[in-house]
Amino acid sequence: MTRVFNFNAGPAALPLPALEQAQRELLDFAGSGMSILEHSHRGKHYDAVHNDAIGLLRELLDVPDDYNVLFLQGGASQQFAMVPMNLLQVGASADYVVTGAWGKKALAEAKLLGLARLAGTDDRFLRLPKQSELQLDPRAAYLHFTSNETIHGVQYVDAFPEAGTVPLVCDMSSDFLWRKIDVRKFGLIYAGAQKNIGPSGVTIVLIRKDLVESGRTDIPKIFRYKTHADANSLANTAPTFGIYLIRNVLRWVKDQGGLAQIEQWNRDKATLIYEFLAEHETCYRCPVSPESRSHMNIVFRLPTEDLEKQFVAEAAEAGFVGLKGHRSVGGIRISCYNAVSVEAVLSLLGFMMDFAKVNA
Ligand SMILES: *Cc1c(COP(=O)(O)O)cnc(C)c1O
Repeated sequence: MTRVFNFNAGPAALPLPALEQAQRELLDFAGSGMSILEHSHRGKHYDAVHNDAIGLLRELLDVPDDYNVLFLQGGASQQFAMVPMNLLQVGASADYVVTGAWGKKALAEAKLLGLARLAGTDDRFLRLPKQSELQLDPRAAYLHFTSNETIHGVQYVDAFPEAGTVPLVCDMSSDFLWRKIDVRKFGLIYAGAQKNIGPSGVTIVLIRKDLVESGRTDIPKIFRYKTHADANSLANTAPTFGIYLIRNVLRWVKDQGGLAQIEQWNRDKATLIYEFLAEHETCYRCPVSPESRSHMNIVFRLPTEDLEKQFVAEAAEAGFVGLKGHRSVGGIRISCYNAVSVEAVLSLLGFMMDFAKVNA
């Protein structure tokens, strides 16, 4: 078996032990004579997995008791709609800080449903707006932002936007669990699982219970957070296999020493890459402002588009896949989520060093 070095942006690399556990258990889950895919979502075997996943998430992030942990479907894109559907009361307005393509989409969805304002941005998505540059509405229903912009490589690392008593709503799809955060700062956090915590098909939502309770009731039941909170995310058939795999990934996180260790590796990987880029500026140039640079998705350009094409092709041949930048921005992107090891990054940098020597 040859496994490549996978730098895909999402769906993305998963920890090998989490996959191996799935492989071992696939045909006969816990002596039940069938796979977890074939179990009822209301049976005891699946129920144990479901609650194990929720429990691990609560433990790793210290999720307070007054927050619900939900597993939903429809991707982060569905949350772009569900957030305003639930939290944007009639006549109210919501604020959006837009730092990249995903935040822009979230704002556009909200505008279809009610009043939503752009509260801060950078035209070219090359840096985070400063807190002092935000134009905040103190009566906003919530302030939405994206903690890591996956396409533009811009991340809130040292501090999140502050909005006083206005609830913070954060799309953490591409950096959820990259380190520990203080959940209490947020009214709602959502994350599609397929970047940093599992396969596609599951979206994790952490939501303060008072926001669940005060959510709008003039929307279809399936889109209400309350429907899913009241049923422990089993109002209808849950994406059972995806949640099972998330459970395996969370166990792996815990086995590594928890989020403190994961954060250390993530910081080491990003430092290695950005220092390398700075030392090889004639070949590789990161356009993002230093203080806004992502630890998860590291974007850079080569001197010409032809060289970028050559870079991606030669990298793939050498076993490094998923490095092409998003089609909307071009360039190169190294996605180094939790499951990408420091060794994988060091190997890639070795390739990049050789490439620069030959081509710069
Ligand atoms: C990938 C991504 C999305 C979209 O996720 P889907 O699950 O495909 O809907 C939204 N926000 C961010 C930050 C992302 O990285």
